[in-house]
Amino acid sequence: MKTADAVSGSAKIVRGRFAPSPSGRMHLGNLCCALAAWLSVRSQNGVMLLRIEDLDPDRCKPAYAEQLMDDLRWLGLDWDEGPGAGGDCGPYLQSERRALYEDALQTLKAQGKIYPCFCTRAQLHAASAPHAGDGVFRYPGTCRRLSAAEVREKSRTRAPALRFCAPAGTVEFDDLFLGPQSFDVQAMFGDFLVRRSDGVHAYQLAVAVDDARMGVTEVVRGRDLLASTACQLQLLEALGAPAPRYGHVPLLTNEAGRRLSKRERDLDVGALRARFSPEALCGSLAYLLGLLDRPEPAAARELIPLFSKADFSRPAIAVPETLRLFPPQ
Ligand code: GLU
Repeated sequence: MKTADAVSGSAKIVRGRFAPSPSGRMHLGNLCCALAAWLSVRSQNGVMLLRIEDLDPDRCKPAYAEQLMDDLRWLGLDWDEGPGAGGDCGPYLQSERRALYEDALQTLKAQGKIYPCFCTRAQLHAASAPHAGDGVFRYPGTCRRLSAAEVREKSRTRAPALRFCAPAGTVEFDDLFLGPQSFDVQAMFGDFLVRRSDGVHAYQLAVAVDDARMGVTEVVRGRDLLASTACQLQLLEALGAPAPRYGHVPLLTNEAGRRLSKRERDLDVGALRARFSPEALCGSLAYLLGLLDRPEPAAARELIPLFSKADFSRPAIAVPETLRLFPPQ
């Protein structure tokens, strides 16, 4: 696998990315992450990549990808590599990178680090307790112990998923904004999925492979993916690829303290674009991130020199009523 240095030509060039899933219109929270990732790269004179994470054919649509690129451009966030911009590390749509994920699976298979899993969803849910009420289930490792004969027998009636043998012990990393982090992947997730039984490659695998192959040196994204970083670091290590640096930004919440979801239609970018100019929205986001003292209009590029003022250590950021169309329920 190509290393970060081989792609960038120098370890000093920062290569950051925004990697949205085109599963609907972006909302304010997605824009906030995109702005943070973009400002971090631009403030270091780095290279910005856009990668469209459209692996799941049930949820992702090309029209959403077009829309999100239009929304990013509208806000003033550009990219140097990605759809419409070219670049040496394409294709930049995950749906066109499946052969690379299969290559990585072969590498893992040769090391005996993946195994087929025949468990049904119902079996999985019966066998494990939900984690932290977050819909995360720990896989108890049932199929890790199957014999070759059992695998052959089960394969006759059911296509297996593939799981990664997550090493025991803690994974440590230094988050750019949060400082030292430590996660026990085996205790939290167990052997996590790398390919679903319908053949769709899992998020963790695709992201790890792409970040490595695209020479990404810096990942700035939402804090909902903090624990996933540990899974990705385990995969990168198994693949012999260098790890980027990771920084996780606080999630935006509604008045009730709940994370924003695509259901809150008044905060989707379509609704926001109808009510605000790009500068007004950018200025409001910059204020929420601590870059500005007041939510005054500002173009994205005007915020680049202010990026070091960002305060990403807060647990969450509540969206103020001034940005909402509908009063809080
Ligand atoms: N595609 C993921 C999402 O939209 C983000 C992936 C990442 O930044 O690692 O939630």
